[in-house]
Amino acid sequence: MKRYLGIDIGASSFKYGVGDSKHGLQCFDTIWFQEKSLSAFTEIMAQIWERVQDQEICGIGIGSPGTLRMPEGKIVGLNPNLPFFTGLSPQELLPQGLDLPVCVDNDANLMALAEANLQNCSVAVGITVGSGIGCGIVIDGKVYHGAHGFAAEAGHCIMVCEGEKCNCGQNGCLEAYSSVDSIRRRLQKRGLPYHALSLPRLIALRATEKELDAVICEGENILIRAVANLITLLDPQMVILGGGAMELGLYDIQRINKLASQYLPEAHRQETVCTLAGYGNRAGVMGAIIMCERRAF
Ligand SMILES: [Zn+2]
Repeated sequence: MKRYLGIDIGASSFKYGVGDSKHGLQCFDTIWFQEKSLSAFTEIMAQIWERVQDQEICGIGIGSPGTLRMPEGKIVGLNPNLPFFTGLSPQELLPQGLDLPVCVDNDANLMALAEANLQNCSVAVGITVGSGIGCGIVIDGKVYHGAHGFAAEAGHCIMVCEGEKCNCGQNGCLEAYSSVDSIRRRLQKRGLPYHALSLPRLIALRATEKELDAVICEGENILIRAVANLITLLDPQMVILGGGAMELGLYDIQRINKLASQYLPEAHRQETVCTLAGYGNRAGVMGAIIMCERRAF
C-alpha cells in the first residue's frame, strides 16, 4: 500500500493527513495560524514534516488557496488575503532537500476531486463556503483546469450588476455576497452590531435578529442562483457544498437543493442533486492524496 501526505492550506489553518483513497486517512490534524507570512507558513510546513516523517510516504500533495497557473503550479494574480503568496509555488514552503515528488492544485479543485471520487461522479461541481468562496469542476473524473489553470473561479462570477465591492477588485461577485467575510462586511456597513461575533453565534442569532437574518438570506439566495447557473452550464450529476461555513449550517442544503431547481431549464430540474461534502473538512487533504495517486508517485 502506498501512502501519501496531503496538505490543505486554508485561510486560518493548515490541515494535513497521511493515507490513501482506499483505506482513508491514518492520521489527520489541523495547525491553526494567526500570522500570515512566508516565514510562519514555512515553519508550519516544517512542523508537519517533523510529525509525519517516520511514516513511509511516497509523495506529497498540496492544496493551496489562490489562482494557480498550470501545469507549473505557480500562484498568480491578486491574493488579498495572502499577498506574499503571489509568485510562489506552494511546494517552496516545504523543508529543503526533501527527496519526494510533490504536486499542487487549488484547494477547491482538490475538494471537488475528492468528493466526486467519493460519490462516484464523473461530472461534478464542488463549492466551498468559508472566508471566501472556492469552486472546482470535475469532468470525466478529472479536475478541469481550463487553458491556463484559472477555470472554476465561480466565486468571482458577477451575480449583481454594480454590486458590492469584491476582494478581487470587481463589483458584485458571488464571493462579495455569500462568503463569511462578505456577510461580516455587509453587517458592519449597515451599522449592525454582530459583525465581530463568531460564526456559530451569528447562525444562532438568526432566529431572533431579523436584520442579521436578512443579510445571511441574501448570501444564500445569491449562492442558490450561482449553483443554478453552474448546473445550467455544466449539467453535473452533483453539486457538492463544503467548507467550514456549510459544516456549521450557515446555509441550508435542503433549501439550496429545492430552490436551485426552480431556476433551471425544465429538462435539468430532476437530474442534478445538491449535497453536503461527505469528507467534511478533510476533503482538501483527501483530494491532495488522490492527486498523488493519479500521478502514480
Ligand atoms: Zn471577485
